[in-house]
Amino acid sequence: MAHAHHQIVIVGGGAAGITVAASLQRHAHDLALDIAIIEPSSAHWYQPAFTLVGAGSYKLQNLRKDEADLIPEGVTWIQGAVATFAPESNSVTLASGNTVTYDYLVVCPGLQLNWAAVKGLDAFIGRGGVCSNYAPEFVEYTWECIQKLKPGMKALFTQPPMPIKCPGAPQKAVYMVADYLTKSGIRQHVDVKFLTQTPAIFGVPFYAKELVKIAAAHHIDVRYSHNLVEIDGVAKKATFEIVAGDKQGQRITLDYDMIHVTPPQSAPDFLKASPLANAGGMVDVHANSLQHVKYKNVFGLGDAASTANSKTAAAIRKQAPVVVRNLLHLIHKGAVEEAYDGYASCPLTTGYGRVLMAEFIYGGKPTPTLPLDPRKERLVNWTIKKYGLPALYWDYMLKGYESFPKHDTTYVDPAAPPA
Ligand SMILES: Cc1cc2nc3c(=O)[nH]c(=O)nc-3n(C[C@H](O)[C@H](O)[C@H](O)COP(=O)(O)OP(=O)(O)OC[C@H]3O[C@@H](n4cnc5c(N)ncnc54)[C@H](O)[C@@H]3O)c2cc1C
Repeated sequence: MAHAHHQIVIVGGGAAGITVAASLQRHAHDLALDIAIIEPSSAHWYQPAFTLVGAGSYKLQNLRKDEADLIPEGVTWIQGAVATFAPESNSVTLASGNTVTYDYLVVCPGLQLNWAAVKGLDAFIGRGGVCSNYAPEFVEYTWECIQKLKPGMKALFTQPPMPIKCPGAPQKAVYMVADYLTKSGIRQHVDVKFLTQTPAIFGVPFYAKELVKIAAAHHIDVRYSHNLVEIDGVAKKATFEIVAGDKQGQRITLDYDMIHVTPPQSAPDFLKASPLANAGGMVDVHANSLQHVKYKNVFGLGDAASTANSKTAAAIRKQAPVVVRNLLHLIHKGAVEEAYDGYASCPLTTGYGRVLMAEFIYGGKPTPTLPLDPRKERLVNWTIKKYGLPALYWDYMLKGYESFPKHDTTYVDPAAPPA
């Protein structure tokens, strides 16, 4: 078995891994850092626009780049999957059996999609009206299913328990279909239900209040505390368990012609089983410094981190500079900064040409970037979502640039009672 050593090893070359590597190179070219990224996949997807592909507003092929073209110059790509972590000996083992040791470790392998956690889903996803915006292999099928909706049909949309990638994405899919049906003149003839395991439509009450109104305006039948547990793809029936309230523990079965499923998600199994994980399986880091709570030469960010922010690429845009500065502080024997405030952003596509830009920090405090009322759906936000953010991702964030307009942490909810 082969062995290698690198000063900084990054596990996962997705949004977080590439951003951290590129930013480190930009900050520290004079330090001649020895950085390696361990990443098994040859393809890198811009996942935030999957919602647009599923609504027929973006081409899937424009969201894929070769991983090889994104690995920053001077960074070593170890194409393989990490199987185990041994932080006491500063070492990781790959599925191949090879080992890699490090001085500093950055852990960002994202979330795992657990299709098999819903009975029948694995067998029927991608056919018979069962679609999902959550994976590149199925997202185009969402758009196919939407276009097949006819008067008298039933469309279901699901959301599993947290954690999930972009908690607003399941409802974005519902709004787009409702708007599509309105524009096609058949909205009132198609039954559209959104069934979510969560007790509210969105985790941030400031935005949830607006989203409830938007769902009502689209005539979407929203059911809370409903968790998808089984799909019968032959009979086209979906079964949900009610997880709270008077009917807790009961099950209901609904017919569908199309069902958009957001699969249950978790930390990847290899991380869950490691000494780096907290009880929930996520890499156990300090909420503001992103440094591991036990192993001080280890950092975690992105979807796999234990932090309570919303799992978004937007969060990584603000986390990566903190991780990079803290790695450099450690290399220079300095103290780490506790500088990440929990920022995340979820551009909620509420219809074609309309986006509500939800931006917030820890505690659900709204922190808009633009000086506009953040509760409003806007065309300008759609333009940012469809054109601005993909360019920002590929050409700015993944290239290690860091200066972005600041989000306004002093914003006050105009509807809040005076302090
Ligand atoms: C439908 C959908 C809509 C979304 N909408 C938005 C949005 O509007 N705005 C927004 O900001 N974000 C959105 N997101 C979320 C965003 O895409 C994620 O938050 C972001 O990609 C997470 O980055 P990450 O680097 O943590 O994980 P990922 O980008 O998923 O990368 C993780 C990497 O780790 C690798 N890996 C896995 N296992 C191993 C292993 N064993 N060893 C080594 N490497 C491994 C994977 O191959 C992958 O490349 C959306 C996501 C989806 C799916």
